[in-house]
Amino acid sequence: MQQEEDKKRKQAKDKLFRRIKRQVGRAIGDFNMIEEGDRVMVALSGGKDSWTLLHILHALKKRAPIDYDIVAVHVDAGFPDFRRDLLQKYLLDFGAPWHIETTEINGIIEQKLRPDSSICAFCSRLRRGVLYSVADRLDCNKVALGHHLDDAIETLLMNQFFVGRLAAMSPKMLADNGNQTILRPMAYVEETDIAEFAELFELPVLSCECPAEGQFDKNRQAMKQMIKDLAVDIPEIRRSMLRAMRNVQPRYLMDNGLQSF
Ligand code: SF4
Repeated sequence: MQQEEDKKRKQAKDKLFRRIKRQVGRAIGDFNMIEEGDRVMVALSGGKDSWTLLHILHALKKRAPIDYDIVAVHVDAGFPDFRRDLLQKYLLDFGAPWHIETTEINGIIEQKLRPDSSICAFCSRLRRGVLYSVADRLDCNKVALGHHLDDAIETLLMNQFFVGRLAAMSPKMLADNGNQTILRPMAYVEETDIAEFAELFELPVLSCECPAEGQFDKNRQAMKQMIKDLAVDIPEIRRSMLRAMRNVQPRYLMDNGLQSF
């Protein structure tokens, strides 16, 4: 009985691993994300998305026909209860090069966050700055982030519903600092697959232990729930929205700047 269950679990793991690897490989190919000689920094928060990304990129690198490096980088914001020891232990056993950057982000938030400002926006800005500077120092020309298809869909809807803009998340774009290229290799991967991957592979998913823990962005949560509800009647909704983002027809939109009359 136990043997049968182990066998099923292994089959499920292999199948999921192959599916995510195939989707990541396709996104990398479609956007020419990784080239010979690249040094790709994998931004590792310790959450399910970034762990999955690291696993998949590490596996793809082993069989890649080109030579490039990956290095996992975690920015330790200094939140007192963060389990840095668990992160470090897993990385030591994992086999990919890694680095943990110790910062004073928590202290800066405590001192400088204005009462009317969003802690996450401030914290993300600080983290991004640190990531770019570590990328410079480690000679990484690319930074891979763990955003997935659901993130892109939610952003697309939020921009339309709350901002009045038709925009999602680009799988490959130049960073604000102009030095690195930002990659989102999991742009085609659905969040449920990532959650299952993290569970099946027993990834050490860590909480950031920050003051905003558990306070989700209400608008994003609403978009997530809406897609989930719609998926009951439209099971292919996420794949269809992915196809839509890859099939923009400016002729049928209303942006003067894109029209050629
Ligand atoms: S959830 Fe916490 S760690 Fe993440 S951006 Fe917000 S404050 Fe920073």
